[in-house]
Amino acid sequence: MAYLQLANIKKEYNISRTETQSVLRDISAGFKQGELVALLGESGSGKSTLINILGGLDTNYTGSIILNGEFLKDFTERQMDDYRKKRVGMIFQSYNLISNMSVLDNVKIAMKMSGIDEKIQTDRAIKLLKVVKMEHAAGKMPNQLSGGQKQRVAIARALANNPEIILADEPTGALDKESAELVMLILKKIAESGKLVIVITHSQKVADSCSRIVSIADGIIAQDVKVSSVKSKTLRRRPVRAGSISTKNTMALAWNNLWRSRQRSILVSIAMAIGIAAVISYSPYLRASPTM
Ligand code: ADP
Ligand code: MG
Repeated sequence: MAYLQLANIKKEYNISRTETQSVLRDISAGFKQGELVALLGESGSGKSTLINILGGLDTNYTGSIILNGEFLKDFTERQMDDYRKKRVGMIFQSYNLISNMSVLDNVKIAMKMSGIDEKIQTDRAIKLLKVVKMEHAAGKMPNQLSGGQKQRVAIARALANNPEIILADEPTGALDKESAELVMLILKKIAESGKLVIVITHSQKVADSCSRIVSIADGIIAQDVKVSSVKSKTLRRRPVRAGSISTKNTMALAWNNLWRSRQRSILVSIAMAIGIAAVISYSPYLRASPTM
């Protein structure tokens, strides 16, 4: 049983009083803890719509989300609030740090809202900043950080209440290559620690660094593959060019063909000999008489 199961999720937006736009037409998928899943799709394919539904920010959809056997739709307001605050951690492309709060306070804020003791908040926030290699910047303000550093602080904040699921909407979308790689490496480690991490991306390269790629197109899941099998499939499909066969292999192929055709001619000769012998032995005209 999947840890997080989506069953027939559908979502439409009202674009006018009479018109609706169907963005998610039928999304069903199961996710396990420890997976680093890429939700890959073109801009406008409905990725953010789906992540907002998964994060409990949008409850206006049809279909079911089942978390560890519990239907989200059966949650009371209070349970939903708990789900948003403690069970999922969200990361956004634009970091969403509070600009007039220090790095440390930005990480503590999520715990503050959950009513955790102040001393525990500080200790835990420092530990999390160490995880994302940002402990040196605990007293800095967000505007003193680079994009990559801001995103690492946002990851620490998302982990503050030890959520079961991390949802990241284009977390590397505004980052340079190096910062993006570091952010993906941190997300990979978080998944390896046993959490389910879902990363939204429109970049095939980012998707390739995940353990599974779920592609969304036209409001449905167009493809759902493990990254290793994506690679082996690509290898299997790659056409073999004539020039890529080595001389050794060419010689082996030629010898094989020759041997097979030799075997074929030997068999034909034997069959012919048996046939001729049979004809001679049974023909009264051709059989040589010992008395002659
Ligand atoms: P993605 O994240 O894949 O780029 P979105 O989920 O943001 O895609 O959007 C999918 C489609 O839904 C787009 O056509 C977008 O214009 C539309 N959409 C998104 N949010 C709203 C909204 N609040 N109201 C109406 N249409 C929306
Ligand atoms: Mg989006």
